[in-house]
Amino acid sequence: MFKTVAESEVTLSVLMLPSHTNFSGKIHGGYVLSLLDQIAFACASKHSGAYCVTASVDTVDFLKPIEVGELVTLKASINFTGNSSMIVGIRVEAENIQTGNVKHCNSSYFTMVAKDDKGNNVDVPGVIIRSDKELQRFHKSIKRIELRKERKAHASTVHLTTGPDDISKKYKVKINLTD
Ligand code: GDP
Repeated sequence: MFKTVAESEVTLSVLMLPSHTNFSGKIHGGYVLSLLDQIAFACASKHSGAYCVTASVDTVDFLKPIEVGELVTLKASINFTGNSSMIVGIRVEAENIQTGNVKHCNSSYFTMVAKDDKGNNVDVPGVIIRSDKELQRFHKSIKRIELRKERKAHASTVHLTTGPDDISKKYKVKINLTD
């Protein structure tokens, strides 16, 4: 079974309230993360028709701070489908309602997995690609999956070959192994 990207697109607009600010008066990053997680869940559930869990999150860069009173819009769509996994891409923009100025705050890519009632993975519909943009996003997802695999392999090599002396010379750390 296959579904178009458009069938599961989700948009969410939220007005930023003072209760969501951190100590410096900007919107708390954790609050934005929870909105990202909600929309990723909604989009993946819509595509799969199943309950979905977050498996991993790729790149959440907070490019620009979000201010109180701004209208934040999150747009999510399916970029890639595996057997039971989906990559949901999300673009976050904040609009200053008075000036109409819109800024790009964040783009994130969530890997979501579809589950049945017992918590077992279930197959999801494939995605039907209908535009160059959608094809580009599918390609980028494949690249990102490959890069993540490489990163994992690379991380274990670093662990095996880098000694404590090398680490403490290069980084701001004191290594004091007592256990
Ligand atoms: P891109 O991934 O290079 O296209 O970077 P963007 O920052 O433009 O968008 C990030 C992700 O948000 C995309 O990969 C899409 O999955 C999603 N997205 C972007 N624009 C839209 C939109 O207009 N509607 C919906 N539903 N999702 C969007």
